[in-house]
Amino acid sequence: MIFLKSESEIEKMREAAQLVSRTLAEVARRIEPGVETGLLDRVAEEFIKKNSAVPAFKGYGGGINPFPATLCISVNEEVVHGIPGKRKLVEGDIVSVDCGVVKNEYFGDHAYTFMVGDCDPEDVKLLKTTLESLYKGIDKAVHGKKIGDVGSAIQKHCEKQGYGVVRDLVGHGIGKNMHEDPSVPNFGKPGRGERLRSGMTLAIEPMITRGTWKVKTLEDGWTIVTADGSKAAHFEHDIVVREGEAEILSTFDYITEITKNEILETHYG
Ligand code: MG
Ligand code: MG
Repeated sequence: MIFLKSESEIEKMREAAQLVSRTLAEVARRIEPGVETGLLDRVAEEFIKKNSAVPAFKGYGGGINPFPATLCISVNEEVVHGIPGKRKLVEGDIVSVDCGVVKNEYFGDHAYTFMVGDCDPEDVKLLKTTLESLYKGIDKAVHGKKIGDVGSAIQKHCEKQGYGVVRDLVGHGIGKNMHEDPSVPNFGKPGRGERLRSGMTLAIEPMITRGTWKVKTLEDGWTIVTADGSKAAHFEHDIVVREGEAEILSTFDYITEITKNEILETHYG
């Protein structure tokens, strides 16, 4: 079931999304060779709590193996859902940081892939292309278009470079639940799938690899890695479908103020 949001709900969702944006910037401040991923997680958790919100990922899934941390930190061939811990980042790593919060009953969920120091130009190209594909998807997220228009725009842009577009994990509706209908695959056919309507709120999140689209799960039950060990990137925004042009609720501006990364700071759309 798809929940269309009122303007007052959208305002609350913007607050949640923007808190995630600011949390990611706090993480950005600490990213450097030698930093432990567990430290980044503690920084994020403290910041979220200080801002009267709750980390949305911690405890997610419940049961015998709930997700144990505030952030998903996925390094290199890890695509998503990496668990922060004692690992230290090293120069040349690419590191995807995904963060979710609940604030005033609404969820924010967005992600950015950082460069640790100087990176392989081929990895930089992967990040740039993935980020571009996110905005190409968002460009299609307007009233009257279809879910397949979003996915095919992302897929085409990435496959043109020979990249793998992960199939097993997809974007999603978001609101009072972290994951709502509809699913938002990063692949598809134009004109197919659910019709987009004003007031739909979506998390759009291309997960793109330098190799295969196939992934596997590590023994920790969470970390998703590429099946061929190729490196992967992940960028995510929360958006509202509107007439004419989607509205982006989250922002990377706070991050790029910190990173000063000219390659990844281009403002699209
Ligand atoms: Mg998401
Ligand atoms: Mg996410």
